[in-house]
Parts: sequence; structure tokens; C-alpha cells
Amino acid sequence: SASSTQIKAYIQAADAVIREHAEEVAALDQAIGDGDHVANLQRGLAALDSITEELGRMDWSAAFQKIGMNLMSSVGGASGSLYGTLFLAMSKAMKDKDMSLPNLADAFGKGVEAMKQRGKADLGEKTMLDVLIPVTNALRQAAQESWDLPKTLETLNQVAETGCESTRDMIATKGRASFLGERARGHIDAGARTSQLIIKAITDVVA
Ligand code: ADP
Ligand code: MG
Ligand code: MG
Repeated sequence: SASSTQIKAYIQAADAVIREHAEEVAALDQAIGDGDHVANLQRGLAALDSITEELGRMDWSAAFQKIGMNLMSSVGGASGSLYGTLFLAMSKAMKDKDMSLPNLADAFGKGVEAMKQRGKADLGEKTMLDVLIPVTNALRQAAQESWDLPKTLETLNQVAETGCESTRDMIATKGRASFLGERARGHIDAGARTSQLIIKAITDVVA
């Protein structure tokens, strides 16, 4: 089963990093969205924080399902249903499986695939997928080539940072920023930044 201390630590680390960068993220969504992304995400993290004990008693599949359902109902916005979809698909993939790098890579890959379908989006559309897709690919490569933990964590963070930064010069073709056309250029996507920050926070706990 999932270890409560692990899940609790991941959720608290995500919560802390988003709180630390709240003003920056709010400004990003104000620039090319409607400014609510950080508040949406913080509502979701608070909802998860209130169920960490319960999550810790579940296996990973059940925990991911509960996380997905909580995020769907608490986050709202475009991002709420996308995060929900990610975790529900991960839950399905982790059914009767232990947590290992190959299983995590497979589950995360399926989660991101479900998210792509749900939002009808792909790489290069100035969304959180510009972080999550490269992270999926790196996880798969790490599992296939049996990378050690330091190399895996370092690479995940590198590709997440590069992916996040890559959204700066893009125009958006999905989400609210797509209404801005060329005016979206020059701003990092808020969802890409929070995804990158959360990946950093979680890999710091794992390390
Ligand atoms: P809303 O746009 O409804 O206010 P949020 O502000 O919480 O929702 O989230 C906005 C973020 O959601 C964007 O910065 C982007 O990363 C992500 N996003 C929006 N639409 C999509 C989509 N179709 N696929 C993937 N991510 C998306
Ligand atoms: Mg918004
Ligand atoms: Mg909104």
C-alpha cells in the first residue's frame, strides 16, 4: 500500500512550493489567462492535504483515484478536469501494481495520454503538457535504461525546466491564452510553471 508519510510529504512539498511562488504564478495567469490558476491549484492542494491520512492507508491505485476525484471537484477551471483525468488514468494503470520506476513511467505515460485526449492538446500548444510530455518521455527512458536515481531526478528536472521555458515564445492554441494570439508570446504558461514547480518539489522529497 502507499505509505502515508510519503504521500503526505509529496502533498506538503507541492503545497509549499506553490505557496512560495504564488505571486509569480498569479501574475503569469493574469498576463495571458484569467488570473485564478494559483488559487485553483491551492484549493486542490488544500483538499488533498485534508485527506492525507486516508490516502496513506490506500494502495497507490486507490490513492490516485481518490486524488483525481478530489482534484476534479475542488480545483475547477480547465486545469481541474485535466488533473483529475491524469490521476484517474494513473489509478487505472496502477491497479494491482507496486510502485516501481517502470510501473510509475507506464502509469504517468497513460495519465498524460488521457490528459491530451481530454483537452485535445499536444506538445507545443503552450500548456502544462509542454512540461508533462517531456517528463513522461524521460521517465520512460529512465525505466528502460535503468538509470540511477540521481540521474533520473536530475533529468526529470532538466526537461521540466526546458519545457516550461519553451512555452515563453509560443502562441497558445488551447485554453484562454489562445484568445490572445500573438500577444501570448513572451509569457510563460502558468500551468507549465506550476507543473514544473511541483515536479521539482516531489523530486526533492524523493532525493
Ligand atoms: P482556467 O483557464 O479555466 O482559468 P486554470 O487557470 O486553473 O484554468 O488553468 C489554466 C492552465 O491550464 C493553463 O495555464 C494551461 O497550462 C492549462 N490548460 C488549459 N487548457 C488546456 C488543455 N486543453 N490541455 C492542457 N492544458 C491546458
Ligand atoms: Mg485561469
Ligand atoms: Mg478560470
